[in-house]
Amino acid sequence: MSDLSGKRALVTGASRGIGRAIALRLARAGADVMVNYAVNEDAANDVAREIDQMGRSVLVCQADVRDKDAVKALVDRTVDGLGGLDILVNNAGVVRDQYLTFMKDEAWDEVIDVALRGAYLLSKLAVKRMIRNRWGRIVSISSDAGLMGDMCRTNYAAAKAGLIGFTKALAREVAAQGVLVNSVAPGIIETDLTADMEEARTDALLQSIPLKRFGAPDEVAALVAFLCSDDASYITGQVISVNGGLRM
Ligand code: NAP
Repeated sequence: MSDLSGKRALVTGASRGIGRAIALRLARAGADVMVNYAVNEDAANDVAREIDQMGRSVLVCQADVRDKDAVKALVDRTVDGLGGLDILVNNAGVVRDQYLTFMKDEAWDEVIDVALRGAYLLSKLAVKRMIRNRWGRIVSISSDAGLMGDMCRTNYAAAKAGLIGFTKALAREVAAQGVLVNSVAPGIIETDLTADMEEARTDALLQSIPLKRFGAPDEVAALVAFLCSDDASYITGQVISVNGGLRM
């Protein structure tokens, strides 16, 4: 397992699903963790309790990643409470699926803002500290939808493709300062986000996945933990899929 002893990590959207699995993985690898959430306080506290039982320092902070002041407070609390910030995982994301012709402006804005404005606000604050320390890791959770498109998800695909461009541009900016920036693009992972998929669509998707199953959150988290470790010291600006072969 990757060794993250002594590292301080902030994971957005860590109350559920993939973010929860990432927070737990990073903690198991030795990191102290800030668990961010939007509304599900009980779920976030459950994650924190598990991390605490591992003997790591852990904090919980509500913050909507679209809100500049809330993000500033989140980063400040992380730095004050954990003693620094070495790892940022931009994981928070939402779907608001609709055909483009019926899409409400609010659905477009929300999906783009949570993914892109969130990553922008968080990364901007985090990267300054990482540059000062000459060590840092930023991993943003994009999606295969950003690489191959997805029905009724123009907003989501655009947001995730944007996150990939953001990752590559920032990776170039900060490589010389010891900060590595990558993106993990999950395929279909079993979480609340994919829970209410129609049966016909589920069957069709399973047929198109060579491994013939959906992924588990921890299978994404394992790659994130690796990218955050010194074992990944020559990897930056990359987009790596965890998708059972859905897209090759
Ligand atoms: P999920 O189970 O729905 O969890 C979403 C998480 O994001 C929750 O912790 C939620 O907090 C948080 N969140 C939502 N809006 C937020 C906001 N405005 N500010 C801060 N936190 C916010 O989703 P998931 O499936 O784990 O997805 C995690 C990431 O992976 C997303 O970026 C998603 O796009 C990406 N992804 C998922 C899949 C998949 O198949 N599941 C595939 C590709 C990519 P609350 O609990 O407080 O609501």
